Amino acid sequence: MQKVSQLPYQRVSMEAFAQEIQGIITQVKEASSAQAVMAARDQCNQLVIRWQTAEALSYMRYSINTADPFYLAEKDYYDEVDPQAQNYLLEYTKAMLATPFRQELEESGAIIPLVFRSFEVELKSISPEIIEDMVEENRVVSQYSQLMAGMEFEFRGEKLPRPMLMKYAKSPDRATRKEAYEVLGRTLQAHSDQLDGLFDQLVHIRDRMAKKMGYQNFVELGYYRMGRLCYGPEEVKQFRENVRRDIVPLVAKLRTEVGERLGVDTLRLYDYDLIFPQGDPVPQGGKEAIFAAAQAMYHDMSQETGKFIDFMLETEAFDVESRKNKWGGGYCTSFPAYHQPFILANFNGTAGDVDVVTHEAGHAFADYKTAENPYVVELGIGGMETAETHSMSMEFFAWPYMERFFGDDAQRYRYMHLLDALSFLPYGTIVDDFQRQVYENPDWTPEERKAAWRALEADFRPHITFDGIPYLEEGTRWQYQMHIYETPFYYIDYCLAQTAALQFLLESQKDYDDAFRRYVHFLSQGGEKVFTDLLQEAGLRSPFQEGALRQVAQESETLLRKLQSGIEKKA
Ligand code: ZN
Repeated sequence: MQKVSQLPYQRVSMEAFAQEIQGIITQVKEASSAQAVMAARDQCNQLVIRWQTAEALSYMRYSINTADPFYLAEKDYYDEVDPQAQNYLLEYTKAMLATPFRQELEESGAIIPLVFRSFEVELKSISPEIIEDMVEENRVVSQYSQLMAGMEFEFRGEKLPRPMLMKYAKSPDRATRKEAYEVLGRTLQAHSDQLDGLFDQLVHIRDRMAKKMGYQNFVELGYYRMGRLCYGPEEVKQFRENVRRDIVPLVAKLRTEVGERLGVDTLRLYDYDLIFPQGDPVPQGGKEAIFAAAQAMYHDMSQETGKFIDFMLETEAFDVESRKNKWGGGYCTSFPAYHQPFILANFNGTAGDVDVVTHEAGHAFADYKTAENPYVVELGIGGMETAETHSMSMEFFAWPYMERFFGDDAQRYRYMHLLDALSFLPYGTIVDDFQRQVYENPDWTPEERKAAWRALEADFRPHITFDGIPYLEEGTRWQYQMHIYETPFYYIDYCLAQTAALQFLLESQKDYDDAFRRYVHFLSQGGEKVFTDLLQEAGLRSPFQEGALRQVAQESETLLRKLQSGIEKKA
């Protein structure tokens, strides 16, 4: 088996790409039969696979060693030419939608209708008249990203990047947590003009794009840009109501109990990152132990997950050690020409290390299972909400094996995991609805935006207070939620996926094998069905149905109480 480090890399030049895609577009336009359209479509998919593989491979080799001049140049090359490639692909999409053979292709089953529907949504999300605005949007987003990446937080005489500062937010010592949040607030405050100004620019650029394309405001365009095929703002409104009615009271009750166990009178924002007075559970062993546990787990889970993890380990598809010149984040990607997933992470000794072999591996398992699906180029593994269902559910299917990772702390880990998952729903809903309100009211002042955030916090997280935390108490928590600036409306997807994952967890408590079989079936179809259809097929409730979260809330509470009493017995 070829190791990832040995996969051959070859640049696909823009000139070669342009020449071939132009030929394909002409073929689609001049096709005299459905077969001729199919031949052009197959050729296009092969070209896209080669392009994506080169782009992903060069980025991966850059990220594992950012000082490598060859792959840095290759990455820069694709950054520069990719918009041109996307433009050509848009022309191809238009040609496909205009073909007189569409009906024949759909009815004969040569191409499923969902492919054409996704082409239509793609076309609604972009138009030549907004290209310049998109360039400007990217420029402002980069300014924000650079501002945040370069921001230094002075804590106890040290200058820390934000992820390092936030480690102190999990300290069992309350004064330390408080101090960390004070530093966070004051440092953001020092940049408040920029943070407000950049966001204001982005809101107006996005609003302008939407209006040029004939939409009332950016909300509609934002949904098309996310490629959403089965829900819109109305469905999300119902979801929001479901969270408000069934999840908010439960989380408020559970979090208040956690606060009592932590011994705090009033639950403040800086008490929210900690669940156990003695600190959160951490994995028992290092890298070797985690991978040994993961391999045993996936073999026990099913034959296909066993084959998957062996493939990943044999091809050396994980790079998880922090080292100089390695990019500091984490991701799961794939090289489609080689049917090869790949995971990059930076282990740091926290429970997050285990997420790499559960959450990220869930993404990789989906890539692995769908690599040869007939529509994987056009439909991918589905929307963001579908992809995150793959990964978040895998975290829960790993539950029976948590002793292998956390030893005696496994029960505490499960409690923390489930409570975090539930607590996330109100927060994610705030993030999403804040954006809706902002884009529906593009001329709001910074003060009006902050007031809207405060109102949402009071509505969805009434049990915590921001009082006394400099700057954050003004309603500015969103200014370091980077999705809000960088990828609008990309956040509710996590909430939707979380509700599906929670249902898989609860089903797995009743009949693990049956739930797992339904999960693998859900995942194996990638994007060939829309999210709501996949849920229905898996026997799960759509989060958009009224009352969809009632049972989730009840059963989760029962499960948490059971876990809690197990923890108390042990203590
Ligand atoms: Zn993910």
